[in-house]
Amino acid sequence: MILRASYGTLGMLGMLSGKFPYQETAYFMLDGRCVFDCAFCTHARSAKSDRKYLSRIVWKEVDIGSVRETLMENENIKRVCLQVVSYKGYFDDTIRAIEAFNFKPVSVSVRALSIEEVREYFKSGADMVGIAIDVVSPKLYGKIRGGKLEDVLDLLDESSKEFPGKIATHIIVGMGETDEELVKTMSWLSERNITIALFAFTPLRGTKMEKLKNPSLERYRKIQLSRWLLQNKLASLEDFVFDDSGNLINIKVDYKRRNYKKAFLTSGCPNCTRPYYNESPARELYNIHDESLLKDLEGYV
Ligand code: SF4
Repeated sequence: MILRASYGTLGMLGMLSGKFPYQETAYFMLDGRCVFDCAFCTHARSAKSDRKYLSRIVWKEVDIGSVRETLMENENIKRVCLQVVSYKGYFDDTIRAIEAFNFKPVSVSVRALSIEEVREYFKSGADMVGIAIDVVSPKLYGKIRGGKLEDVLDLLDESSKEFPGKIATHIIVGMGETDEELVKTMSWLSERNITIALFAFTPLRGTKMEKLKNPSLERYRKIQLSRWLLQNKLASLEDFVFDDSGNLINIKVDYKRRNYKKAFLTSGCPNCTRPYYNESPARELYNIHDESLLKDLEGYV
């Protein structure tokens, strides 16, 4: 088993010195050569990227036993997140890792292939299982991730019925999809009480999509706001107005009288903040990991 921890996690666990943003989730990756070939991912079969990266974060190899002990003593960490690369043998390693960490709530983010697989993760003590969609456009899905979007949605549907409130998914904004495709998918997920974690597309060296640009912050804010309204049942699909090209041009909800800036915080499982996961600290943040930073946000919506 190759287990890696993000730099921020090592910092929070006192295993690295330096200044790190406060985070309540410890992020780990089960690493190996992925059998899939997602065009945006540093771990794809044909990617030429350095495998110690996932998105723009560096992950350092750690020993599961010593990390377990350190985590047991750390009360600030409220959740453990396992990001699983689909290498041969990932399933057994994932079960072992869940069992090692399940004295805290464990989220597993994995390209699960069947409901039986999802059941096994919960049986081992997982608190949440994340089955990533990543690409919401049915037309682009096969090209970018391989396989069919429909199959992932079917598994999400089935899993959400069997494990209500315990299923999450990841969605990446900015890979050629329309706003309409994003909002419709988020509405479908919200109806099933599936937790949505939004990510901004990040071009990474060595991947097939290294030349594509990040989405604009203005567009990302609109999608964050839509996610927040849908997940909190403050809007339904009929409230979103699109033009003929699928651009979101209006939301018929008076969100400004609510505490709507919370929409721009990192979304996902409870306590998940993923500091600087898809943004450089030097630029305005897509996902805001700290509520105290919200006051400086003006002018985007
Ligand atoms: S939302 Fe956060 S904690 Fe949940 S699976 Fe994704 S990265 Fe992990």
